[in-house]
Parts: sequence; structure tokens; C-alpha cells
Amino acid sequence: MAGNRTFTMIKPDAVEKNYIGGILKMINDAGFKIVAMKYTKLSKEQAQKFYEVHAERPFYGELVDYMSSGPIVAAVLEKDNAVEDFRKLIGATDPAEAAEGTIRKSYAESKGKNAVHGSDSDENATIESNFHFKPEEIFA
Ligand code: UDP
Ligand code: MG
Repeated sequence: MAGNRTFTMIKPDAVEKNYIGGILKMINDAGFKIVAMKYTKLSKEQAQKFYEVHAERPFYGELVDYMSSGPIVAAVLEKDNAVEDFRKLIGATDPAEAAEGTIRKSYAESKGKNAVHGSDSDENATIESNFHFKPEEIFA
């Protein structure tokens, strides 16, 4: 059965451009409840660890530098079918391919600087939420 939580980050490009409010509004309007949230900044080491699965990909170094370049917003979101529905809401990795009405279509500037992260499975949603939040920091 599909889980009811996913993990997101508003990435440094979107924070820098003052898109936090607009993105959170799209998230709320789509029916997601915010159950944990933090304005924070990843160290280079934390970004390396978070994106470890991509370590062999050619864009890894650039991704790590970028994700540790400025503050982010990390959050845990709750909704039925959260992972799949949130991936639909954020749209394709490359904003040029993202559908109309998606967060990346509205706010992303490029395939790398693409405004938001969304977990790709229930298992990763749990791992990624635990990376940023202690159980007592999540209020359902
Ligand atoms: N990324 C990149 N170049 C690529 C593919 C991905 O810079 O060719 C970055 C981008 O920021 C993306 C992240 O690496 O969001 C993780 O890649 P993934 O394929 O998991 O995309 P996502 O799940 O975020 O859509
Ligand atoms: Mg991914």
C-alpha cells in the first residue's frame, strides 16, 4: 500500500529568488499538509551524503556544490499517495519538459537548478525525512 508521507526541499535557486511562499502555496493548494519544516543549509558533506545514490553520475559534483551553496527549506508532507502525487505536482526533472501547472514549470530555471526535490519512493521518503528530522520534530 502506498504511504502517506513524502519529503521535499525547496532548493537554493528558489529560496534565493523568493519563491518559498509561492511554492508552499502550490503544495498546500494541492492538498498536502506540512508536518515538519526547517529553513536550513546543507554542508558539502551533508549534500554528498544526501545525494550518495547519484555519486557515479556526471553531474554529482556540480549537484553537491549547488545544493550546499545557499539555504534551503526542508519539509515532510502528508497526503494520501504522497510520493506519487507530489512527483506529479513537481513535474519533470528538466523544467523544459515539465507539464503546465507543475512547480518546476512555474519556478525552475534549469535541469540542475530545478527549484524542488521530491522523494521517489516510500522507502526514500522515510530515509530522507530521517536525514533532516528527528521523530519528535514531526507533528502530524
Ligand atoms: N540533475 C542534474 N543533471 C541531470 C539530472 C539531474 O543536475 O542531468 C540534478 C537535479 O537537480 C535533480 C537531481 O540532480 O533534481 C537529482 O536527479 P534525479 O534524476 O533524481 O531527478 P529528480 O528526482 O530530482 O527529478
Ligand atoms: Mg530523484
